[in-house]
Amino acid sequence: MSDDARTYHRARLIFAAATVLAGVGVLALGVRATALLPPPAPRRWIDLAGIVAVEAALLGAARELVTAPLTVAGGYWLPRRFGLLHQPWRRWLLDRAKATLIRAGLGLLAFEILYALLWVAPLWWLAAAVVFFAGDVLRVAVAPIWLMPLFHHLTPLQDRTLSERLTALAERARVPVLGVWVGDQSRKSRTANGTVTGIGRTRRMVLWDTLLRFPPAEIEFVLAHELGHHAHGDVRRILLLRGALLLAKFWIADRLLALGVAWWGWRGIADPAGLPWLALVLLGLGLAAAPLVNAYSRRIERQADDFALATTGNVAAFVGAIERLAALNLADRRPSRLEEWLLYTHPSIERRLARHAPRSRGPATAETPPSG
Ligand SMILES: [Zn+2]
Repeated sequence: MSDDARTYHRARLIFAAATVLAGVGVLALGVRATALLPPPAPRRWIDLAGIVAVEAALLGAARELVTAPLTVAGGYWLPRRFGLLHQPWRRWLLDRAKATLIRAGLGLLAFEILYALLWVAPLWWLAAAVVFFAGDVLRVAVAPIWLMPLFHHLTPLQDRTLSERLTALAERARVPVLGVWVGDQSRKSRTANGTVTGIGRTRRMVLWDTLLRFPPAEIEFVLAHELGHHAHGDVRRILLLRGALLLAKFWIADRLLALGVAWWGWRGIADPAGLPWLALVLLGLGLAAAPLVNAYSRRIERQADDFALATTGNVAAFVGAIERLAALNLADRRPSRLEEWLLYTHPSIERRLARHAPRSRGPATAETPPSG
């Protein structure tokens, strides 16, 4: 196991934790600020929408400002230092600007919807769970056609032999897909990946061009794993889990907004003075639910590996692909149990290998024969 990978992951974790803490700090200050200087009482819904927009914009801008140095350090400086990123500064900044704008737009929309529902619906939390669940489904459906093209230039795979091999694989897995596409990741980074993205008529295979440098059998394994997710209905399973969590999250938020009314004397739960508190509560609940979502994710990742091996029957390609991906992406092969449990959406490299190819584990864990 390389020390580089460990150092990189430690640093990344520290930057990520600092970013979360900074976000919490900004929202806590927002709670304090609205207690000292409450926003005016809205008479009509349109006034409420205006106040919510101003509050959300102020909080969002403050958060961006405070976390900007961490974003640059953790997203640009760190991966560049470890050879994972070679995208020029201006291109990187443009990508970040796009991502920030999308996040800001969606964040604003989310709070406008929440306050509109808080304004009109006694069971706002139930309505909010339904609306946000629908939004989640829509996001998954449009990801390959609207979101991915914003960050990668996607073209149909030119290599006919590989294209036919992967299409045949999808047929064997009984997962209908709309062609094989290639994204120009190599312009940004050496990291490799492949995915089957979208649902229904937007579902397609997308390979980063960095993955095309792998032997065909290994590319086939990566895509077989991805097809496994679709064969098992994992997109639906994750959407349903997230939907159930949305329901729980908004219900708890409803209770905590009522507490806020009692603590800070707001004019009801729809009072926009409660917005920073609501944002803080939702952030906290999201963080609290993450280990549960991650545990479920690791489970379906194991199942996707099982499916890929059952479909391809090629253990050597499995080991080759995992090793190559781990090296390219500078994976921490064996994080601590706690780290894996809290943060990992996939089982660690060592665990994935040990499950199917116990004897091919990396040198770090290879048992030395007893001497003498
Ligand atoms: Zn997977």
